[in-house]
Formats: sequence, C-alpha cells, structure tokens
Amino acid sequence: MKLKIAIDGPAGAGKSTVARMVAQQLHYTYIDTGAMYRAITLAIMRSGVPVDQTDAIAKLVKKCDLQIKLTPDGKNKIYLDGEDITTEIRQEAVSALVSDVSNQLMVRKFLVEKQRQMATTGGVVLDGRDIGTVVLPDAQLKIYLVASLAVRAKRRHLELNKDVDNISLSDLTNAMAIRDNKDANNTYGPMRPADDAITIDTDNLSIEEVVKKITELAKAKISA
Ligand code: C5P
Repeated sequence: MKLKIAIDGPAGAGKSTVARMVAQQLHYTYIDTGAMYRAITLAIMRSGVPVDQTDAIAKLVKKCDLQIKLTPDGKNKIYLDGEDITTEIRQEAVSALVSDVSNQLMVRKFLVEKQRQMATTGGVVLDGRDIGTVVLPDAQLKIYLVASLAVRAKRRHLELNKDVDNISLSDLTNAMAIRDNKDANNTYGPMRPADDAITIDTDNLSIEEVVKKITELAKAKISA
C-alpha cells in the first residue's frame, strides 16, 4: 500500500526537511504546500494588486501557471509561468504577506484542489498547515510537528539565505509569532492538528530522530 502522509505544524518545526527525508527513505514524492502559497503570494506582489482585493486576486490566481518539479535530492523546485522562483519565494517580504494571501477562499480552493490531485496516487508526503484536516483527511499517517518559538526562530535564522535577506534573530522571532497567530486563525484552513494526528515535539530531537520515528510509523502502517 502506498500511503498518503500529512506533516503539519508551524514554521521552523522542521517540517520540510523531515518530510523530504521521510519521502526519500520510503521512495515517495515530497510536496511542499507552503511553497505553493508562497508562489501565489509572489505573483500577487509582482502584479501590484493589493492583498485585500479578493476578486482581482481570484482572477490572477486562476491565470497562474504553477509547476512543481522534484530535484534528484527530493527537493521541490517551484516555477511560476515557466520561471524558477524557488529562491525568491523565501524572501522575508513574501513570508510577511503569505498568511494574508492564504486566508482567501479562492486561493485555498485553487491550491487545495491542486494538492489533492498531486496526492491521488498515494506514495506522497505533503507538508503544510491543513494537510491532515482539510487537504487529505483520508491520509493514513498524520504528524503534527511542534517546537518552541525560540528554537524555531533560531533554526529558521540559520537556514535563511543571507544573500536574499539579512534579518536579525529578534525581528525574525517577532515575524514568526505574527505568522503563527495568523495561520492558527486562518478561516478556511487553520493550522491545527487533526484529531487522529500524532504530535511530535522536536525541541530536543535531531532531524534524524524525527525522521526515524515517522518512517517507523509509516512502515508499520504499510505492513499492517
Ligand atoms: O511552510 P511555509 O512556512 O513555507 O508556509 C508559508 C505559509 O503558507 C504559511 O505561513 C501559511 O500562511 C501558508 N500555508 C497554508 N497552508 C498550507 C501551507 C502553508 O496556509 N498547507
């Protein structure tokens, strides 16, 4: 059986690295749904349409040609209308706006549909905020990764590309707290664990330990 695996949780909890490594170990496909919301946000920023113009945004979103390609090391490369925007979507300006864009019904409908299509065959690991609750309520394995804000901000600060942004740790901590709060209060796909999700606190665990735990849980499901 090829599982659908959902990995949700706040920014910096380790979702994308863990999801990618779990997918590699199981020979599954990793899908970074946060990158999809970031891509739409970048498209809106470039268009100059204000983020509160929901009708104009709905039209723009429908015209976006969003493609995700897997690299040989299992990462996602994101293309918008043929252009590789993988690095650009990590800018702090995108991070600051993405939660407001993600809280629009048409944006979510468009992306949730796309994510479900990509997951239909199984053998996938999706990471995001609402994968276990909204996108794939039928996922056989649902993980909710958490870590304290201080630990998450430190991790994110280390991994940020200094060529793209040069933000201080305290500014980044504040920005992440604001984003957490908006994501938790998203009207259409709030960040929260599904009732049947397994919560893992990653504060005192290495990436390898988290990956091992999830891979073991997945293998148990596959052989059940
Ligand atoms: O995972 P990442 O931090 O890149 O996600 C960026 C943003 O995209 C989140 O802060 C959230 O606003 C939005 N998002 C979402 N639903 C998802 C994945 C991401 O609303 N499934």
